Order: sequence, then structure tokens, then C-alpha cells
Amino acid sequence: MVAERLTRQGRQVVIIDRELPSLGSTVASTAMLLWEIDQPLFELAQLYGFEKAIRCYRASHHAARGLLSMVAHHGIACQMRPRLSLYLAVDDDPKLIQNEYALRSRAGLPSVYLNHGALLKRFGIARAGALLSRDAADADPVQLTHGLLDMSLQRSARLLKANAVAYDNAASSVTVGLESGLSIEARYVVLATGYVMPDIVKPTGQLPASSWAIATRRQPGNLWPEQALIWEASRNYHYARTSADGRIVLGGEDDHALIEPAARDEATRAKVRALKAYLKTLWPRASDDVAYSWSGAFDSTHDSLPLIGRVPRCKNIFAAFGYGGNGITFSFLAAELIGSILAGGSSPLLDDLAIDRDIPGLMP
Ligand SMILES: Cc1cc2nc3c(=O)[nH]c(=O)nc-3n(C[C@H](O)[C@H](O)[C@H](O)COP(=O)(O)OP(=O)(O)OC[C@H]3O[C@@H](n4cnc5c(N)ncnc54)[C@H](O)[C@@H]3O)c2cc1C
Repeated sequence: MVAERLTRQGRQVVIIDRELPSLGSTVASTAMLLWEIDQPLFELAQLYGFEKAIRCYRASHHAARGLLSMVAHHGIACQMRPRLSLYLAVDDDPKLIQNEYALRSRAGLPSVYLNHGALLKRFGIARAGALLSRDAADADPVQLTHGLLDMSLQRSARLLKANAVAYDNAASSVTVGLESGLSIEARYVVLATGYVMPDIVKPTGQLPASSWAIATRRQPGNLWPEQALIWEASRNYHYARTSADGRIVLGGEDDHALIEPAARDEATRAKVRALKAYLKTLWPRASDDVAYSWSGAFDSTHDSLPLIGRVPRCKNIFAAFGYGGNGITFSFLAAELIGSILAGGSSPLLDDLAIDRDIPGLMP
């Protein structure tokens, strides 16, 4: 997304990736393109005040819509489908959802409240309540990445397979040292290295975790009405969507202790069992016949906001770290904000999302 944005602005771009692009966390992504942030608006407002919280939510909403319209405008073939999203109450208490609805309404965000009866009638889901929102989408994240990459390369970006191991920011340009011993000099560098954060960044708010996901076999007749994206009002939520070919894709069971790939793999069998059990409670008529299961690093931040902007003490190095359940939406926002900085613009969001921002307290 950053390369697409910067080539669109007429910049000469060199993309460095040590693997095939899209095979980082992107290939593991369930790609629910939500503007609703993991941290509910009312909690974010308690943390930072209404004005900043609302600015972040509106920016996220703007990014989700921007991503949808960019894909449509360029005809990127990535199975993107505009979707409704359902944010379900957990337990028997709709209070959290109702608080959230009150604040979203005040902010003019496109969500409506469904009580138990309305939710059951329209979606067949038995929970205490839910927020139903417009302007979400789903997509194939690998196809999306390749579509953006192809566009960037057609606009004369270059793609190098190389491992960046050092960043020298002493001069007015940046020198990126590669493992091969070669180096690249550039006026600006944007770090879009996913959850692999180079040492120069040192953020305070990164929260490592792992997430697991399953995709069922095709079951077009068994999908919930309107195939909305589904997630929940809890810190460690489950998330579910359908796919264009009629599967259910469901993720969650996040774990902050199992970070190493080997430990993650070892836990997969139990996590898949738990995801299947959850599917049965969410949507009993679905078949839980699993065709694929996988896991990946799924880092977030303590306030669920991305880390975007200038790397502290590095004048010409920028970071585009999406993180959390909105990683893809936030990546679009990162591309937009970094593109704007390089064009001489500024935004209060750059303070809100700064890598070295103060995050009051830590979330449980
Ligand atoms: C299971 C799971 C489910 C998810 N679900 C969702 C979801 O539903 N919705 C959503 O919005 N987000 C979701 N996410 C998050 C989202 O997928 C990520 O935020 C997003 O894909 C990150 O893209 P990226 O390009 O920044 O990082 P990546 O895809 O990780 O790409 C980073 C690239 O940087 C390269 N790299 C790293 N270090 C170096 C180096 N030193 N030198 C050269 N190259 C380097 C890597 O090779 C890699 O190709 C999910 C993630 C996971 C794991």
C-alpha cells in the first residue's frame, strides 16, 4: 500500500523484501476489513478523551472506505466484497454494546443497535445484542497485495529480494545495509516489515501474540444471513466471515504466551478444536468440517492503535505498522499519512499514532 501510494505521487520507489511479498503475516490474514477498532470507542475515549478517540475512529472509517474505493477504482482482482459487520455482545449483558452505540451515534459513525430479538430475527444469532455497521469488506489479502505490487511495478517501482540489516540515518539520506554486503541509499525509508520490528524503532506499545484460524469446507447453504463479518465485544474475541466460495473462515483463541513458531504449531491442534467448538455455538447449523487451519504472529498495541509516522530520532525513516485486528485498514491509513508527510502535509493523527506516544496505563 505504501509503494502504491508513493508511486502514485510520482516518487521513485525501491521495495525490499527478503521473502516473496505477501508471505509475511498477510498470507495468514483472515482479511476482515473493518473500520471498527479492537478498542471500543468508549474505552478509547476514557483513555485519550473523546476528541482524539473520535479522530482515530473517523480515520479508520475513512481508511476502510478509501481502501474499498481504491480497489474498485483500479479494478484490483482480490475478491473484495463490501460487507456489513456485526459486533456481538458477550455474556448476557448488552450494556457494553449500548454504551458503544451511544458514543458512535454521537460521532456520526454508521452503526445501529440490534437488541436480542432484532439480532435473532435478522441474523439468527442468539446474543444479548449487537452493533450492525456499514462500510466493512472482506478480500483475498494475497491477491490484494499482488494487485498493489503490480500497479507499483508498472509505475516503475523496483522490487529487490534482500534482507535489510542496518539503517544509517546520519546524512540527509538514509543508507540501508543489506545482508549481501551491498547497500541502498534513499532519500526516505519506510519500514513496512510487519511484526518484525527493526531495532531502531524501539516502540513502547507493541504487544506480541499469536492467533489461529480455520476455514471450513464449502457450505454455501449453511451461511448466516447477509454473510456479515462477525466479531465480539471482548478483548480476546473470535472473528468470523464467509468466503466468496462459500466457506466459513473463523479465527481467534489469541495467546500472548505462545509466541515462538514451534510453540504455536504445537498448540494448533487444541486451538483448532476450540475454534470448531466456538463455531458450533455461534452458528450451530454450520458443518465444522475443517479444510484448512493455520496460525500466525498477531501483534497488537496496548491501545489497539497502529504505529505510524516518523521513527523517533530518525529524520527520514518512517514506519507503517498496522497491528491488531485492523492491520490492513491501518496499512491503508499508514500509506495515506506517510504519503502526506512526504508531500509536506501534517495531521494531528501523526501525534495520535506516533511510535513513541504515551499510552496511559496498560490494558488488562
Ligand atoms: C491470523 C491472522 C489474522 C488476521 N486477521 C486480520 C483481519 O481480519 N483484518 C485485518 O485487517 N488484519 C488482520 N490481520 C493482520 C494483518 O494481516 C496484518 O496487519 C497485515 O497483513 C500486515 O501486512 P504488512 O505488509 O505490514 O506485514 P507482512 O505481511 O508481515 O509483510 C512484511 C514483509 O516485510 C518483510 N521483511 C521483514 N523484515 C525484513 C527485512 N529486515 N528485510 C527485508 N524484508 C523484511 C517480510 O519478508 C514480509 O514480506 C491478521 C493477522 C493474522 C496473523
